[in-house]
Amino acid sequence: MNRVLFENALLITVDDQNNIIRSGWLLVEEDRIAALGEGRFEGDRSGITTVDATGRALLPGIVDAHTHVAGSLFKGLLEDDPNGFYGFALPMEGQLTREDVYHLSLLGAWECMQAGITTINEIYHYSLQVAQALDEIGIRAVVSQNIVDVDIGALRYDDYTRDAAKGEAFLEENIQLIEQYHGKDNGRITCRVGPHATDTVSMELAKKCVAVGQKYGVGFHTHVAQSEREVAQLKASYGLTPVEFLRETGLLGDHLMAAHCIYTNESDIQLLAQSGTHMLHCTQGLGRGSDFPPTAAMFKAGVHIVLGTDWLTMDPWANMRFGIGLNRQHGVDHATASALSMLRRSTIEPARALGLADQVGSLEPGKQADLLMLDCTGPHLTPMYHDPVATIVYNACRGDVSDVMVAGRFTVRDRKLQTMDEAEILHRGQAVAHEVYNRHLATL
Ligand SMILES: [Zn+2]
Repeated sequence: MNRVLFENALLITVDDQNNIIRSGWLLVEEDRIAALGEGRFEGDRSGITTVDATGRALLPGIVDAHTHVAGSLFKGLLEDDPNGFYGFALPMEGQLTREDVYHLSLLGAWECMQAGITTINEIYHYSLQVAQALDEIGIRAVVSQNIVDVDIGALRYDDYTRDAAKGEAFLEENIQLIEQYHGKDNGRITCRVGPHATDTVSMELAKKCVAVGQKYGVGFHTHVAQSEREVAQLKASYGLTPVEFLRETGLLGDHLMAAHCIYTNESDIQLLAQSGTHMLHCTQGLGRGSDFPPTAAMFKAGVHIVLGTDWLTMDPWANMRFGIGLNRQHGVDHATASALSMLRRSTIEPARALGLADQVGSLEPGKQADLLMLDCTGPHLTPMYHDPVATIVYNACRGDVSDVMVAGRFTVRDRKLQTMDEAEILHRGQAVAHEVYNRHLATL
């Protein structure tokens, strides 16, 4: 039996009472948290592996509400280009092969894992290869196929010519994904349906996506109101806002993970709040792109806002700090945009949005042992007073995450990936990225 005992740890549980144990223990048995407590563990130590967590904090693993891990491909190519998304990234994605996506997904997933992310809500092209990579590397993942019925490389010319057969093929891959991966490895991998965005699927295709989700009993993941281009396209085609489009198609609701929602009006915000739709705020990515969703109005209306990293940089710690800064800049009060709020919106709240709150998102007996250990011995995390959450959220870095566990298994130990060969992932990821980049340059 797998039994791991963490001792002398600062436990930040993120449970309903936000309980913190200054010096305690946590016992993992098989894939679950068996028990935790204050002081010394007095139970049976037979067959136990002990981890001395002196100077370390144990937190629930981060649940990242929105990722495209293979999109780490674009690091350093888009951040300073205002037209980078439509003008460069989407056309370059046309150069990706299934094998490229597999290797780049490993690279991005490793970046996530090293940062303490234990669950990702992922949507991308070639989802069968994405799921294969995520399954192999050992992260917990909710995977969707990018479904579109347009040529995303042509959107830069405002060309929205629909191709129904293309849409059907992507939907078919999403069905195959669900049949092959939903519930795999004791539920570590689950699936959703992924209509890519409100402008890149037609009303007809979006409704087919809804029917597939209902048939398989899975939720949805999409992008909403990402750009003024998208808003204009929906107005011209249907006379609807992106959020109204979601309502008309049946996508709106508690079953939907809706990324970005940048260009939304007051009535859209009410619809998001009343329907229980989950708004995925990718604070760092959007902030760098000068994209600011109206979060003050959203919080006021009661929209369920959770944090995601998107792509390029999968750093949940920077993301939480961007979340605080951006929200306060937009007039959100200090309590709503606090360290604790951002930590909850990076752990238990996205878990709840994904329907996984009984499994992950907090350190509680009976839940899956998905956790991270943070080295708090550095000067930037010293001193620590009565509120360690504030000290950690305002100061912790990815490099402080020393160990990560998913379902009771160390995926990162002493900052080293345990599940696959780091050098191989780095070497292949780097080579594939340069090949894709060069193929894209050749088309310009
Ligand atoms: Zn995205």
